[in-house]
Amino acid sequence: MTDSGDALPCSDVDASFMREAIAEARLAEAKGEVPVGCVIVLEGAIVGRGHNLRETMQDPTAHAEMIALRQAASTIGSWRLEHAIAYVTLEPCPMCAGALVNARVARVVYGADDPKAGATTTLYTIGSDPRLNHRFVLVPQVLGGECGALLTDFFGRIRAARRAARAGITPDVPPPPAKPRRDQEPEGG
Ligand SMILES: [Zn+2]
Repeated sequence: MTDSGDALPCSDVDASFMREAIAEARLAEAKGEVPVGCVIVLEGAIVGRGHNLRETMQDPTAHAEMIALRQAASTIGSWRLEHAIAYVTLEPCPMCAGALVNARVARVVYGADDPKAGATTTLYTIGSDPRLNHRFVLVPQVLGGECGALLTDFFGRIRAARRAARAGITPDVPPPPAKPRRDQEPEGG
């Protein structure tokens, strides 16, 4: 993998933790889930990890960030995740951006922009809205090329499998079990 597709330079520390989030995204992918992963870091240590499990759990709130935030709160015994940093491979959706505000995280570092559901930069700016009672520092597009490629490869394989099925051809690579609708991509983590 290369970082050449990333729009902005990032620190080694941010890149290192983003790779942990990417590892989580790959766990989601292996389950046929839209590959989105998240880790929550406090004082240099990972205190929560999560990957998208929406299909597995049939739970609309089972996004990577929600799972990682719950685990982090459980780990430290407090819902207040002040001073925590969230690393997530895809720009948070409105639900997750709201949860990150409610958790009082200090900083959110994300990989790929989400033009269809992004709620920290693209469609909304929930993390910096002065009307809310907490704001977090936002660092977009860390390893964004790599994070985005996970998603485009995933949906590309689904489309290829569908085309092959229509043509009556057995694809080289079996499709993932989950079948997200096209209008949902890439949101789902
Ligand atoms: Zn979300």
